[in-house]
Parts: sequence; C-alpha cells; structure tokens
Amino acid sequence: MHEFKYKGKDLYCEDIKIADLARRFGTPLYVYSYHTLVDHFTKLKNAFREINPLICYSVKANSNLAILKALIDKGAGLDIVSGGELFRALKAGCPAKKIVYASVGKTGSEIEEAIKKGILFFNVESIGELENITRISKKLGKVTNVAIRINPDVEPKTHKYITTGKLTNKFGIDFKSAQQIFLLRRALKNIRISGLHIHIGSQITESQPYVAAITKMISFINKLKAEGVVIDYLNIGGGLGIVYDKETPQTAIDYAGKILPLLKRTGLKIIMEPGRFIVGNAGVLVTKVLYVKKTPKKEFVIVDAGMNDLVRPSLYEAYHNILLLQETGDPDVHLRFSRDRRQETAKVDIVGPICESGDFLAKERMMPRLKEGDYLAVMSAGAYGFSMSSNYNSRKRAQEVMVVNKRAILIRKRETNQDLIRNEIMPKGSL
Ligand SMILES: *Cc1c(COP(=O)(O)O)cnc(C)c1O
Repeated sequence: MHEFKYKGKDLYCEDIKIADLARRFGTPLYVYSYHTLVDHFTKLKNAFREINPLICYSVKANSNLAILKALIDKGAGLDIVSGGELFRALKAGCPAKKIVYASVGKTGSEIEEAIKKGILFFNVESIGELENITRISKKLGKVTNVAIRINPDVEPKTHKYITTGKLTNKFGIDFKSAQQIFLLRRALKNIRISGLHIHIGSQITESQPYVAAITKMISFINKLKAEGVVIDYLNIGGGLGIVYDKETPQTAIDYAGKILPLLKRTGLKIIMEPGRFIVGNAGVLVTKVLYVKKTPKKEFVIVDAGMNDLVRPSLYEAYHNILLLQETGDPDVHLRFSRDRRQETAKVDIVGPICESGDFLAKERMMPRLKEGDYLAVMSAGAYGFSMSSNYNSRKRAQEVMVVNKRAILIRKRETNQDLIRNEIMPKGSL
C-alpha cells in the first residue's frame, strides 16, 4: 500500500496535493507519507506476530529523526552501522536495548561509545573486530553481548553492488571460522556470544534466498547445540525488495509463510532489520523542470534534482517511476494521456544540473511532453534517497517534509550557503 495517488488530475500524498507542497516549500523536496511508513512496519510486525520478533529498522535507509521517531513510537528497534547512527538513534528516543550494530569497520571509539550506551549487541564481522571488542570491554570492566555475522554464501539474485552474503563480499564470517570462534568462546572473558546474524543483500524480491540462508543457519545452530553452545538470538537481517517498476516482490505475508516455520524450529528470539521495505515506497522526490533541450540525437529534460539528491539511478542503474504531478489518468500508464498537450509523448532523458554525464534520473523514458515549470515526482525514493545525498557541486541538500493526513510537517530544512562551508577553515595570510 502507498498513499501517493492521483485524485482527479493531481498527485496527492495522503490528503495533500503534492504540487502545493512543491510551491510552498520549493524543490527539490522529499515528501514522505507517515501512514505508508507506519503501515509497512505494521504489516511486517503482524505477519510475524506468532513469534513477536524485534524489528530493528535499518537507519541507513533513511535516517531522518522524524522517520526514526515515527517507527520507534510503533515499537521498532534500530539497526545501526556507525557511531553517527548511534547518536541519531538515541536522539530519536530509541531504547539502547533495542539497538543492534553491524559494520565491517567499527572503530575503537565507536565500539567504546556503543558499549557505554548499553546497546543490545554488536553484529561482529571479523575476528579482529571480536578481539577489539574484547579488549575494549575488558578496559571498561564490562561483558559485551555480540552476535556473529555469518556469511552464508547464498546468491540473493539482486544487483551485484547490493549483494552481501556471498563469500566474495566483505561482510560476515564463514561458517568454519565462526565455529572456531565458538570453540574459543570461553577464553573470551569479556564477551558473550548471544546470537547469530545474517544479512544477505538488498532489494531481494523472492523468499527462496532467505529460505536457503536460514536453512544453512539452522544446521549450523544444530551443530553448535551438539557442542553445548547456547545462544538466544537469530538476526535474519533485512533486504526485502519493493516495487520500483515491474517487480513482484514477496509480500510480508508470503515472506512469513515461507520462513516462519523455519524460524519457529530454531526456538530463538528473532530479530529483523528491514530498511527499504519500510521506507522505500513511503517517500518521493519532487523536482521541477528547468529546461527542455533537444540535441540532434536526444531530448533532455533538465530538472532541479540531481545525482547529489538521488544517486540510485547513477550508482545502481536503478529504475524510478517518474510521474507528472498534474496528470489526467492512470498513474501506471504513461502513454494514456487523454487530454490537452499531454496527449503528446516523447522519449527523453531526465537529467540533473550536475556536471557529470552520469547525472540522470531516467534514461530513454516515455513521458508526456514536458515544459519548463512542470513538477515531477520521482517515486519510491524514500529509501537510500536523502540518506545517500551529498553536497557535490556545492548543492544544498533538499528539504524533507512528512505528511500526516492533511498536515505537512517540515522535518529537515534546506541547507544554506553557510551550511556548505560550516566546517571549512580559511587559512590566514598567504599559503
Ligand atoms: C543495509 C542493511 C540492512 C537493510 O537493508 P534493506 O535492504 O534496506 O532492508 C539490514 N541489515 C544490515 C546489516 C544492513 O547493512
């Protein structure tokens, strides 16, 4: 479900006309639907009600404090990957005992801070990291809970940049090494290995890779059991795919149907770390057409949002549906423009203002004839949109607005010129 729909000629977010938001706040503008966000969280929670998992929303998908707060208020925990995300998580009001921390490169100071704040556990990704956590825990006189992140070597059938559970990826620890760690566990006095973790990739549209990975985990857990190892948690990660184009991803109910029986067999407390599934379709990027430019070979629609605002098309060749905010008909059918100038269509590249040929939002896309001043919504931009944005070309990052029914709440101001140079230091005198 999502709350971005045409009512009459206009695209709405919940009960607000998005074009009104564009005029009021300016563009580029990220617009989020509160109810879509919360609905996705609730769908997952309900599908797994039987085992009552701890759902730790993956902060990196969209780390705005208002998004975090909305989910925390519904009972979510958080999955973090840096000290900065720990700061955000606590700032947004997440109980430390609902925070899990993954990352192949946790620094000593990040580890120390997280131990002091009392997070639920670290998802440990290497033996060196385990030693480092042990050392720091000893120094602090604490016993730290960890889960071993396993690299189960399964193929998630997604883009190669977002595959994380193959042995050629940098993530996690192979089964054999993990078993050795468990054998040595008694020597690691300041560590308690309380769980196992996997996260096999992102935008995974089928349940089969999860079934494969969890099945491997079950036989590993059984092996450990036979050796007298007791753990409490199995963290199955995130990665659930969403609809960007013509995908037909598994729903929360399909997913639960496939993996619940396996999870129940483990008897362990289950943790999940969905990011994209919760926030991906809860946000759009609104942009304005600046110019339409024809070259002998192409037609370019130049808009005021670029790869610094939304890098997924450039980075992953990702597809985002792009809709005109004022349209006549079915949002899914670009070709059916029944009235006025929209009858005409053209195949265009929709590009940003950045000085890079890789700066595009869509290529060779059939669109209604666009003109200067038209507003467009880049759909499904809630996940890995703003959170991957940058100031490249000294562009001020976009504003973000959360819509709750008829209310539009500004949740991030547009940056100013001063923000751009805030931490820079101009040397005195000549260099
Ligand atoms: C990024 C990440 C997630 C979330 O991935 P999605 O594809 O957004 O669900 C979950 N767990 C870990 C460890 C991650 O790095």
